[in-house]
Amino acid sequence: MTPGEPEHIRLLRDATRRFVEQHMPRAAAKEWDKKNIFPKTVFAELAKMGVMGLTVPQDYGGQGVDIPATMAVIEELAKRSSAVACPYIMAACYAGMNLVESGSETQKRAFLPKVAKGEFLFAYGLSEPNVGGDLAMVETTARREGNRILLNGTKRWCTGAHIADYIFCLARTGPKDDRYKNLTILLVDPKTKGVTIRPLDHLGIRGVETNDAIFEDVELGEDAILGGPEAWNQGWRQLAGRALEVEKLELSAVALGLAEAAIADAFEYAETRVQFGKPIGAHQAIRHAIAEAKTKALAMRLMLGHASALVQARKPSALESSMTKLFCCEGAAEITLACQRVMGAYGLSDLTDVERYVRDAISLPIVGGSSNMQKNNIANRLKLAE
Ligand SMILES: Cc1cc2nc3c(=O)[nH]c(=O)nc-3n(C[C@H](O)[C@H](O)[C@H](O)COP(=O)(O)OP(=O)(O)OC[C@H]3O[C@@H](n4cnc5c(N)ncnc54)[C@H](O)[C@@H]3O)c2cc1C
Repeated sequence: MTPGEPEHIRLLRDATRRFVEQHMPRAAAKEWDKKNIFPKTVFAELAKMGVMGLTVPQDYGGQGVDIPATMAVIEELAKRSSAVACPYIMAACYAGMNLVESGSETQKRAFLPKVAKGEFLFAYGLSEPNVGGDLAMVETTARREGNRILLNGTKRWCTGAHIADYIFCLARTGPKDDRYKNLTILLVDPKTKGVTIRPLDHLGIRGVETNDAIFEDVELGEDAILGGPEAWNQGWRQLAGRALEVEKLELSAVALGLAEAAIADAFEYAETRVQFGKPIGAHQAIRHAIAEAKTKALAMRLMLGHASALVQARKPSALESSMTKLFCCEGAAEITLACQRVMGAYGLSDLTDVERYVRDAISLPIVGGSSNMQKNNIANRLKLAE
């Protein structure tokens, strides 16, 4: 629990933990990871708890926007499985936060009630084969012909495009020279003619397939523009807003969940595994490894709590959310690897879950804005000389 966490979040955590124990047993989580399966029925059950609406105002059928509560749910789900935590993020954060912050009134009325019911997911279509951290250079293009829009290009690593209702697609809509200006966010139904979804394989964060989404002369109406026709060329402003701060925090919450899960398993192992006549947890090296991991995890929790509160209050948070993403994602990689060592050979085998936590955690400093990109953001915010 985060020190000072309000009662309603503590109760929400308890309810989410009970849900995890009932609907997400360890054996199932292992299978979802191995076979790269999205557990659709479990997700539908989760939606019945009302947690999808934690980013949706009550006027649109949600619980009211509560970023710290959303992070608590992500953390609890991620402790057991990315296969449920990631689609939760696709609903509550990718769809919910972006529609609340940047959707037109028509889009909000049409989509937000579905988000709150867990029936509406976005996949992020930002990265491309030639574009990673430098998103302002996207090569996917969209041009207007009367009131039609023609979209061409390829989005890479588009997680969950095969299960999403819409791909949240960043497209270039004018000359490249004005780096941040001629960009528009289009909502693309993956079933539209001209869209091809091709799966990619990768090491961690499995359970929701990651894909290439290829657009060949995809024809869209003006209603596909996030925020409506007047938001044409406003994509960067929309992307760099509050939803981006939340993206850094949601990955930090996944990081914290993985770190806590690894520590819990390593702790139990250290208490029960006996070598040289005593539990390995009585050997100083193991005691120190766990003490250090617990200390880092508490620091991660405090940073996440602080940044979430700032975002919730709409206070400036770009510096703190980048620091949190950097510290938590690096911290999760360090902690899970340390816990894997505590568990020796078993930590490498699929007889335990720690090898999965490691695979998931080492992805986190790379995805969603790498650690280097966060360091650049932090240095820029501190106005260090370039
Ligand atoms: C499992 C998985 C899921 C993903 N899901 C999605 C998704 O749903 N939607 C989506 O759009 N993308 C997704 N991504 C892509 C992910 O967000 C990118 O990998 C990430 O933004 C970094 O881009 P890149 O890997 O192309 O690295 P690059 O930008 O090519 O960088 C490569 C290396 O160079 C470093 N580097 C680059 N520029 C600088 C600089 N200016 N200063 C210092 N160092 C620099 C980086 O830190 C990195 O170490 C996913 C990736 C994976 C693996």
